Amino acid sequence: MDDVVETLALARAFVAQEVEFGSGDIVRAPAAFEQAEGVENPLNILGNEVCDCQLCELAQSRNTVVFGSGNPQADIMFVGEAPGAEEDRQGVPFVGASGQLLTRMIEAIGLTRDEVYIANAIKCRPPNNRDPNPEEIASCEPYLIRQIELIKPQVICTLGRFAAQTLLKTAESIGRLRGKVFDYHGVKLISTYHPAALLRNAQWKRPAWEDLKLVRKLYDGTEM
Ligand code: URA
Repeated sequence: MDDVVETLALARAFVAQEVEFGSGDIVRAPAAFEQAEGVENPLNILGNEVCDCQLCELAQSRNTVVFGSGNPQADIMFVGEAPGAEEDRQGVPFVGASGQLLTRMIEAIGLTRDEVYIANAIKCRPPNNRDPNPEEIASCEPYLIRQIELIKPQVICTLGRFAAQTLLKTAESIGRLRGKVFDYHGVKLISTYHPAALLRNAQWKRPAWEDLKLVRKLYDGTEM
């Protein structure tokens, strides 16, 4: 019961902006991807391969490959755009300001970062946080596809347009994609706003909350 009360309070705070997103400690983690159990685990093998990747020019400027973090058997997978400065430093996705908001979004639907899996469409930081270009997206996409195949989530929630457009092969905006359930090779896919966009546009928090509730319902099996 306490859990339910806490989750409801977090959800209300998320929508009402009572929580000071962007404050608090930065999540610390080792500067390498978290190894799944078992040296021969295919996710570890893929992660090691990605850490050696030289397929695009981002390999020259990155400090750390940001492969992914969380539960390798997660039922829900969040897919963002690309690492920022803090992620490039730590090797972990979503640990900067937008990561703190993502953590609260996950908690608002009654889950923790350790229960879900978090990855990005692009595994290396584009310099100065510029948008990834089509060549970089194309060379990284097979890694994301393989990651999804290995994790086998029930639900994917894409954050921002790059992840949604990459997986859904569309040029539509998030405003048009959000709120709908897509079928991504048998996996239910919801697109919502990127947490960084939510930090800049508070009016998108309510629709984002609707999307998150839909993610939770699909995970619970109460929405098909
Ligand atoms: N933005 C993203 O899309 N991914 C991260 O890991 C951090 C910020």
